[in-house]
Amino acid sequence: MVCGGRLDVTPGPQELRVQTGGISKTLDFVVNPKDYPEQRITLADKSKVELSPEDEARADREYNAIIELKHHWRAAKDTDLALILPVKGELSSQFGLRRFFNDEPRSPHSGIDLAVKRGTPVKASARGRVLAVGNYFFNGKTVFIDHGNGLITMYCHLDRISVKAGQRVRKGQRIGLSGMTGRATGPHLHLSVVLNGAMVDPELFLPAIHHQ
Ligand SMILES: [Zn+2]
Repeated sequence: MVCGGRLDVTPGPQELRVQTGGISKTLDFVVNPKDYPEQRITLADKSKVELSPEDEARADREYNAIIELKHHWRAAKDTDLALILPVKGELSSQFGLRRFFNDEPRSPHSGIDLAVKRGTPVKASARGRVLAVGNYFFNGKTVFIDHGNGLITMYCHLDRISVKAGQRVRKGQRIGLSGMTGRATGPHLHLSVVLNGAMVDPELFLPAIHHQ
């Protein structure tokens, strides 16, 4: 069971209700507060920090569209939870990092960053179906893969996308090339893992990654 990693949970007692074959059980557990480290980033391109009204409207629209994608649900016989790294690279930014862009507080880091050169092939972390592809103001060129049962992976800042919405992908299949589209200070792959609509720590599902 994975219950850690969700960023917006209030620390304290929580309940997990499990229903299977007509039997219902309630399990109690406690969420402890976690202090995520802080990161301060300076962006020379101020237009990615202080948005124009047009960019603000675009970012809002995309934010809502992305929320809808994250809540997509497809029942599947089984979901592969043993994700593989989409690229071989060191971890340059961890999940939950509290970030400041040009001293302005921003939402915490909703995934992990893997440092790789632009043009590095990016692989699907598990088999699934391409839920959507898009080019977003903040996330840049992005692929969403639906692995079934509420598990979705997101690959952001891609230079090139080589899959289409609706397409089935194998684990390890190339889905595009890494880059720095959207708001990125350098080339890297941003990977997010969504479980039942909540952003969770990708490292919970991945083999050990070397931290920079
Ligand atoms: Zn990132």
